[in-house]
Amino acid sequence: MTVLKGKGVVKGISFGKLSIKNSISSIDCNLKCKINDTQLEILRYENGKKAAIEHLKELYNKVCSEVDKESAMIFEVHQMMIEDETYCSSIFDLIKNEKVNSEYAVSCVSKKMIDKLSKVDDEYIRERIADIKDVSSLLIDCICGNVSRDCEINRKCILGANDFTPSQTAEMNSETTKGLLMMNGTVNSHACILAKAMNIPCVVGLGDQLKEEYDGKDIILDGFSGTIYIEPDVTTIKRLKKKLKMCQKHYELLNNLKGKENITLDGKKIKLYANIGSISDLNIVKGNDAGGIGLFRSEFLYLRRKNYPSEEEQFKVYKKVLEEMKDKEVVIRTLDIGADKKVDYFDLPREDNPAMGYRAIRICLDRPQIFKQQLRAIFRASTFGKVSIMFPMIISLQELKNAKKIVKEVKHELKESGIPFDKNVKVGVMIETPAAVFISDELAKEADFFSIGTNDLTQYSLAIDRQNNKVSGMYDPYHKAILRMIKIVADNAHKHGIWVGICGELAADENLTELFLSLGIDELSMSAPFILGIRKKIRETNVDEVRDEIIKKFL
Ligand code: PEP
Ligand code: MG
Repeated sequence: MTVLKGKGVVKGISFGKLSIKNSISSIDCNLKCKINDTQLEILRYENGKKAAIEHLKELYNKVCSEVDKESAMIFEVHQMMIEDETYCSSIFDLIKNEKVNSEYAVSCVSKKMIDKLSKVDDEYIRERIADIKDVSSLLIDCICGNVSRDCEINRKCILGANDFTPSQTAEMNSETTKGLLMMNGTVNSHACILAKAMNIPCVVGLGDQLKEEYDGKDIILDGFSGTIYIEPDVTTIKRLKKKLKMCQKHYELLNNLKGKENITLDGKKIKLYANIGSISDLNIVKGNDAGGIGLFRSEFLYLRRKNYPSEEEQFKVYKKVLEEMKDKEVVIRTLDIGADKKVDYFDLPREDNPAMGYRAIRICLDRPQIFKQQLRAIFRASTFGKVSIMFPMIISLQELKNAKKIVKEVKHELKESGIPFDKNVKVGVMIETPAAVFISDELAKEADFFSIGTNDLTQYSLAIDRQNNKVSGMYDPYHKAILRMIKIVADNAHKHGIWVGICGELAADENLTELFLSLGIDELSMSAPFILGIRKKIRETNVDEVRDEIIKKFL
């Protein structure tokens, strides 16, 4: 037996045969041919382009129906790339001027683009290289008439490769693809995002441990620990089968908790809400019995598009979310653009330190037209359910007052125009900077609630960039500084009679549930699949019994 160690991205255990995919992309294996008839060659290229667009549309529809619209959007972006004017005319020019075959022209143009992008000092832009490779090799395959691209993808097995492109992942079928192994692959790549959405167990970062010679061998993939067992021995098979059974039992047990209260053994109740980024998350939210939405990351409506979403477009989304959630509370976090969430049409300046730069509420206060448009959409939707708003990245009382002033103006304008809205929409503050923590006593007088964003709070308190792999080992949300800050915020909130929640990743950490209950946190908002596990933990806790010991342990 050989054991490989990587990073588990999608939890789960799979037994199956490994099939290693050849990682040579079509853009790397094209011979240059001289052609005589450029018109005919351009026709070949145009036909290939048409077939590629058709293929991308099919993938879009497949992912839309099997996963969700949000995950499918990458194929709309790929289609835009294939139709991009500069991309097309560069290919066209090369065929015409150099008299070369079209697949070679596509390969040259894409390699040039990749070369340019690989020099850019920006991770997001560099990640687009994978998209260019994916789109260009699809185009080449289509020009060559090789549209049905990968028959291996439909075989029942665990697939291994250097990396998987988004379209390869989308072509997979969660019935037949039992698992994914990648030599490279980053947690935030589209392939991993799709694998998560399709619930295909996945391990990345295996590097050259993953060898071609393992092709066809029996393996076990443990997505919990990121371990791969090649030709496992009998003891390992037995152990992993037992682990698989336990996982299945655990999920069944959790399912039984649907419809039950989030109440501790000594009768304390807490709200368990879900974090969402789009309408398409609502099915999972309902399936996991969330009591509401504690964080709607509204900036996702602004990403992956060419221009601002209109007020009407935003209104429709908010209205739909509120209607779907019926009387349950929905907290919309106003635009948190900037830092790692970049949008071309915002024309944001290049910054050395974007996480500490022009982002979130800073942009909204600086560009009130954009802010007002979003607020109008939210207030117009407010009559369709129970909505609250909260502002991200607040660092001062003045900022909160300025944001509230704009809210007041929007309400006044709507009233003047006779447009109905809920006059009692609550206005909260995200506590995600150390500054906000230490003035939370003052902020509490101006806010209806607090929601602690532990992701950014950890980054800003420990001076650890949450995006930087080099220092990720030091990103420690259990740091006493963070946990003590949570206590300060909770105490200040309660002193002033407002509720306090946590919407950062820490909310879903079962090791801290007892602490959060002991501190009197009123709400925890997390990715929906974690809700039932936390409910189980809450129902097994006696807060009065554990409080002293747990506070001593963590604070
Ligand atoms: C946070 O910072 O903890 C948070 C919830 O916001 P985001 O992760 O979107 O920055
Ligand atoms: Mg944040």
